[in-house]
Amino acid sequence: MAVATEREYGLFIDGQLVEPASGDVRDLTEPATGEPLGRAAMGGEADIDRAVEAARAALDGPWGKTPPTERSRLLHALADAIVANRKELAELEVRNVGKAISSVKAEVSQAVENFRFYASAIASIAGRSNPIGGSLLFYSLKEPVGVAGQIVPWNYPLMMATWKLAPGLAAGCSVVLKPDEATPLTALRLGELAAEVGFPPGAINIVPGPGKTTGASLVRHPGVDKVAFTGSTATGGEIMRLASGPIKRITLELGGKSPSLVFADANLDDAIPSSVWSIYYSAGQSCEARSRVLVEGSIYDDFVARFSAFAQQLRVGDPLDPETQVGSLISTAHRDKVHGFVEQGREEGAQVVTGGTIGDGKGAFYPPTVLAGVESPMSVAQEEIFGPVVTVIPFEDERDAIRIANDVRYGLMATVWTGDSARGHRVASRIKAASRAGSRLARSGSTCRTPPFRESRSAATSSPASAGSSASTRSSSTSRRRASSSRRARSRSTPSGSRHELVTDSYPCLAPVRVRCRPARNGALLVRASGGTVSSCASRCGAVTESYPCLAPVRVRQRHAQEG
Ligand code: NAD
Repeated sequence: MAVATEREYGLFIDGQLVEPASGDVRDLTEPATGEPLGRAAMGGEADIDRAVEAARAALDGPWGKTPPTERSRLLHALADAIVANRKELAELEVRNVGKAISSVKAEVSQAVENFRFYASAIASIAGRSNPIGGSLLFYSLKEPVGVAGQIVPWNYPLMMATWKLAPGLAAGCSVVLKPDEATPLTALRLGELAAEVGFPPGAINIVPGPGKTTGASLVRHPGVDKVAFTGSTATGGEIMRLASGPIKRITLELGGKSPSLVFADANLDDAIPSSVWSIYYSAGQSCEARSRVLVEGSIYDDFVARFSAFAQQLRVGDPLDPETQVGSLISTAHRDKVHGFVEQGREEGAQVVTGGTIGDGKGAFYPPTVLAGVESPMSVAQEEIFGPVVTVIPFEDERDAIRIANDVRYGLMATVWTGDSARGHRVASRIKAASRAGSRLARSGSTCRTPPFRESRSAATSSPASAGSSASTRSSSTSRRRASSSRRARSRSTPSGSRHELVTDSYPCLAPVRVRCRPARNGALLVRASGGTVSSCASRCGAVTESYPCLAPVRVRQRHAQEG
């Protein structure tokens, strides 16, 4: 299919494609073939000035006056435009990035969903009022921050651009987006589509260019109110530094060296293919790639053999072939960097079980590679390789697994594979990662939820004479009556010897009780209250508190004065 690759792309500023001030237009090459792809303008500081000016004018003009319902409509219209142009966008992305079209199709769908999600979310953007008594009423309103400077990397150019644009536009900000200089095409095409569906000029501006100059000038620009960045940890640190002078708001999404923990009781028929996919998807060029697979010692050799066999079966090749599972890397320079890590791993004592060689041909391909016998301090286990290379590290027991999982400076994602759901939750909770997934992490008794009761303090501490207290006292008395009848009902149905005992799923009493918490034998938290006026617990556990401190769905056991 002929896609718009052999054309020249300008910068997208103030609703149209324009030439860069410097006249810098670069040739782009297809990473998978080494063939020419198209030409794209690169922005510089003067272009960032122009884009920020357009974004500011949009905020002061039609875009700033666009109501949420209309912003929602425009976001949905842009989602529709992506759907209508999905084949062109997918092919453009594949040829620009080199990744398999099977992956890119999913990313185009995700791009559509990003706009749909935020188009719907606009309806729930609301402030709140805080009546604080007397004649005072505080309220908060959610307003757009202003001009958002957004910087994205090369590994998911379209999806990442939508991930940034959609929430910013939904909130009513105007945006200056800087794609990576190597992968600007789908973002620029998206700009054109945005103009076609009716986004006012200046609401969206797209200025690709080098990070250290164009990117840095966007971050530093006094007209930019907020910076949202996705990229490497090193660049994130630099952006934080640049934004610290003017004290700008920043959001950083950075790198990863994420672990998959595989315990001997895991279902390996699930764990192995899934772990293979979670490193080799996008040829390992994913922030959340599970590039460290930690395997319990007793199954280590078997796991490495089966994992490597799967990795060898992956179809690597022409990224436009729908059967291809792993395309090329972003460039031959990046491929050589990845290979350098593998060589370093070899020197440090890692064993290359499969892969680890650069093939012939012009494309930036690298085979799925498995490094075994890896120890946590090795560079291949510490550095983000960002390519199709997995390190398999043995562990002795649960404690050792958690230690190794946390033994890196990254903390983005983690997966736990075990047949024991209690262990799954336990281990997941101890891994320092933003997202944790797991097999068989079924809900158990310790899953947290908000307890279905209202804060009792106001009723407990309000003086009857204070303003508004009578209403809250009344409502708490009503609740107490309801609670007490609930207690009676339940206690009749659950007699327990001579004790008047009640077991319920919620804590029903709004009276000013002091409660004592202690772990029950089954691991749940047990809360005891006696007749609404417990006072005798401290001598035994010391943990007496005035309020109910736990958000877990505890079983509450109340013993009343007549307990035996
Ligand atoms: P990178 O940090 O080199 O570049 C990312 C973007 O920042 C590019 O647009 C680049 O031009 C720009 N940039 C570079 N230096 C800059 C500077 N001084 N000031 C302003 N902008 C600058 O990262 P990369 O190599 O393009 O992307 C790969 C990295 O991105 C990996 O570390 C990966 O884990 C990370 N990533 C993270 C997520 C996430 O959601 N956490 C998602 C995708 C990628």
